[in-house]
Amino acid sequence: MTPARKGAARVIDVHGHAGAWQQYGWYDRTPKDGIAWVLRAMDRAGVDQQCLFTIFHGDARKCNRDTHEFVRTHPDRFIGFAFATPLYPEECRDALVEAIDGFGFKAIKIYPPYARIPVTDVRWEPIFTFAQERGLPVLSHTSAEDPLCGVHLFPEVAKRYPAVSWILGHAGGSYEGRAAACRSAQAAPNIYLEICGSNRDPGSIEQLVAGAGAERVLLGSDNPLIDPRIHLGRVLLADLTNAQKRLILGENAARLLKV
Ligand SMILES: [Zn+2]
Repeated sequence: MTPARKGAARVIDVHGHAGAWQQYGWYDRTPKDGIAWVLRAMDRAGVDQQCLFTIFHGDARKCNRDTHEFVRTHPDRFIGFAFATPLYPEECRDALVEAIDGFGFKAIKIYPPYARIPVTDVRWEPIFTFAQERGLPVLSHTSAEDPLCGVHLFPEVAKRYPAVSWILGHAGGSYEGRAAACRSAQAAPNIYLEICGSNRDPGSIEQLVAGAGAERVLLGSDNPLIDPRIHLGRVLLADLTNAQKRLILGENAARLLKV
């Protein structure tokens, strides 16, 4: 089970990767090494459960089976998210069914920069319709004004698919991006903001809470690309109440993911 820390907040990190990404100095490891490496980073930071996905293959089934290798070995510590790509529409539903029904994954991860298709484009429809039918959260990579997945695009999508909780990965990134992400959250009640990124200036968590409310902000780290302790520290040392910190650290994620 998760490490028992009496009275401690439950900590769920909604943004983690299974697999290698050499361009960022994150090298190929055997699956066993990769799993131990991610777990060690979680244990050092006090993360109880890590949400994980693989986005490195055009074949979503290959991605999800790699993620399942992690989840299967430590189902109490890892929560799988299904990768879905609009590039192979004839395969995407079967891949999602395998990941959600077969592997028990709890949400969908999309990465529009790989597909080069804006989130508002009709080609995402099979994936978003599946999420809507199942009430699954969708975590998307986002940035400030990106024509593919800029935070300003999400209110339209969120209104089209109201049963989906839309999690804006990186919450738009920069100060301006976060301000725009807060405006998107104000425009649609089913938009949530996830905090990870490598260039976050001081006060970023307080900015998101002021703009969107603590119940709409989620801990994410990009583990193992980025040490989760950085993001734990940003939340724990933020100028917020303990109740607000508990929401961000895990209570919001538990509610959205139904875990
Ligand atoms: Zn990431």
